[in-house]
Amino acid sequence: MKDRQLVIVGGGPAGMAAALAARAAGVEDVLLLERDQHLGGILNQCIHPGFGLHHFKEELTGPEYADRFVRQVRSDAGIEVSLRSFAIKLTPDRHMSYLRPGAMEEVRAGAVVLATGCRERTREMIHIPGSRPSGVYPAGLAQKMVNIEGWIPGREAVIVGSGDIGLIMSRRMALEGVKVKAVIEIQKTSRGLVRNVVQCLEDFGIPLLFQHRISLIRGRDRVEAVDVVKVDDELKDIPGSGFSLPCDTVLVSVGLIPENELLEMAGAEIDPKSNTPVAKDINLTSVPGIFACGNACQVYDLADSVTRDSELAGSLAAAYLGGAGK
Ligand SMILES: Cc1cc2nc3c(=O)[nH]c(=O)nc-3n(C[C@H](O)[C@H](O)[C@H](O)COP(=O)(O)OP(=O)(O)OC[C@H]3O[C@@H](n4cnc5c(N)ncnc54)[C@H](O)[C@@H]3O)c2cc1C
Repeated sequence: MKDRQLVIVGGGPAGMAAALAARAAGVEDVLLLERDQHLGGILNQCIHPGFGLHHFKEELTGPEYADRFVRQVRSDAGIEVSLRSFAIKLTPDRHMSYLRPGAMEEVRAGAVVLATGCRERTREMIHIPGSRPSGVYPAGLAQKMVNIEGWIPGREAVIVGSGDIGLIMSRRMALEGVKVKAVIEIQKTSRGLVRNVVQCLEDFGIPLLFQHRISLIRGRDRVEAVDVVKVDDELKDIPGSGFSLPCDTVLVSVGLIPENELLEMAGAEIDPKSNTPVAKDINLTSVPGIFACGNACQVYDLADSVTRDSELAGSLAAAYLGGAGK
């Protein structure tokens, strides 16, 4: 088992900002683990503009924003980047196991920063009834299919949820020639940024139906239609308000869940509702020497805020290690 000063799990904006900040604070040896084959995290699939307005005072796409950090990380001799490296085990005394192609590695870390991001809530989690045909995707997965793999998931889509991911994907699908029939939102207002409601829906003439929900997904092999119903202020169906929307694709964008299995394994206290670490301040966990940042710590709207707070996580880890990289 090798000794490492600081091990960071996750090479998205959070992990990269934490690594750079720890180095700036004097940590000499940083190991950055990323399970994907590239650094950048979710930013790699966010090809739309809207990033960096606060941090860089200019508007960048997700890959452009990530690239600025990737270059700094790559040129820092004190940061070892290990790609295709999946952290699978963490103990309270910071022994970590990770899989990389052809090997299982074990390290003993002086401090650990978990920057593992989020996964998407699924159709099952909000109990949309109906059959289980193909054509129902989490919106972030559809974003990856379209922007990275170059596949269009369907021709006529209905989007569930008007958070930023649902809004951005409505526009993305429309730009690819998909007919977006409607965005269905059970609440009275959108959780997304106002600029995204305007630029992604209004500019494209896509209807946003507040206080509506999908009551049934129809279709045998492939989605054929969704049944939609209006709900009252108690979220109860209003009788007689139902209608059907023919479509072959449903994109579900109903929230993100912080990925904190490693933290849980290390015995840290986790809030069961939000799946975030329970601690007295941001970036801390209930296990000394283990820190969390970015979307693993709380779900952020803006990558700029992720960068700002994750720099703090890197500094906290450095302070824990003794400030001068001991
Ligand atoms: C669709 C969408 C649109 C968005 N639009 C905007 C926008 O317009 N403007 C804006 O400012 N922000 C936007 N955001 C928000 C912003 O992109 C995120 O808040 C930010 O990327 C989160 O960074 P992160 O590093 O915490 O997580 P991520 O970027 O998800 O990175 C986490 C990384 O950890 C890795 N990982 C996880 N577990 C392990 C493990 N066990 N071992 C090794 N590696 C692991 C993952 O592979 C991933 O690379 C958007 C987000 C989404 C999803």
